[in-house]
Order: sequence, then structure tokens, then C-alpha cells
Amino acid sequence: MPKKVAVSACLLGYKCRYDGGHRKDCTLDLTGCEVIPFCPEEKVLGTPRQTCDLREGRMVGNKNGEDVTEAIEAQAIALVKAHPDIDEVYLKSKSPSCALASAREYDKDGKLVRQDATGIFAKKLKELLPQATFYEKEGK
Ligand code: SF4
Repeated sequence: MPKKVAVSACLLGYKCRYDGGHRKDCTLDLTGCEVIPFCPEEKVLGTPRQTCDLREGRMVGNKNGEDVTEAIEAQAIALVKAHPDIDEVYLKSKSPSCALASAREYDKDGKLVRQDATGIFAKKLKELLPQATFYEKEGK
């Protein structure tokens, strides 16, 4: 059975970032693996889209203040429902959705409080996949 590896789609070259770009990571060697791409933000907000930030543990749109926390978490739940046996996960760094330990988080007044937060999607995925190994990649 090939190793099952879930990957932030932008790291694979999918143009699913907020501005329609990607962050393809050429160092990622997934030869022989079953690769499962995901992009929670594209599913919830489409591409292109407004940027979002983490504010006091919530994920909020910067343009209209929309709180998409539960919608993003639901994407993690759906991914694990479809693939409960994922072995490894590669996550895009610094993203309010996908970061493993590098997202910026702000307080209610917009003041930066930390730069090592876990994204909303990644946090839920870690809860749901205790057997999996998680990695973070910057891409490009
Ligand atoms: S970091 Fe995550 S949410 Fe953002 S574009 Fe990449 S896969 Fe999508």
C-alpha cells in the first residue's frame, strides 16, 4: 500500500492562493505516495478571495469581517472522513488555515500577539489524525 500523503494544494503548484498564485515546493518528493491535495480556503471562499487573519483564535476575513472558523474546520472534518488513514500531512507555513506553527495571530484591536500560531484547518486536522506525521513547508 502506498503511503497516503495529504498536501496543501498550493505547495503542489495549484493556483489556489488568495491572489490566484501558488507556492509550489520543488523539494517535495512524493514519488510512490498517494497524494491528496486540499485547499480549505478555496472551498470556503473561492479563488481569488479576501485575505484572512487569526484574531483571538478565530479566522476572520480582512475585508468584510466574516468569521469562517467553523467553515474551515468543516473542511478538515470532511477530508478526514474521506481519508481516515492519512499517514503524513504537508502544510503551507504562515497560513491562517494551514500553518503548523507559524501563523500570525492578532488581538481584537489588531495588535500582533504571536507568530507561532497553528492555522484553524491544521489544528482540527491534528486533532482528528493523531497517527499522522505533520510537516510545514514554505514553498517556492
Ligand atoms: S495555504 Fe492552505 S488555504 Fe492557503 S492556498 Fe495553500 S492550501 Fe489553500
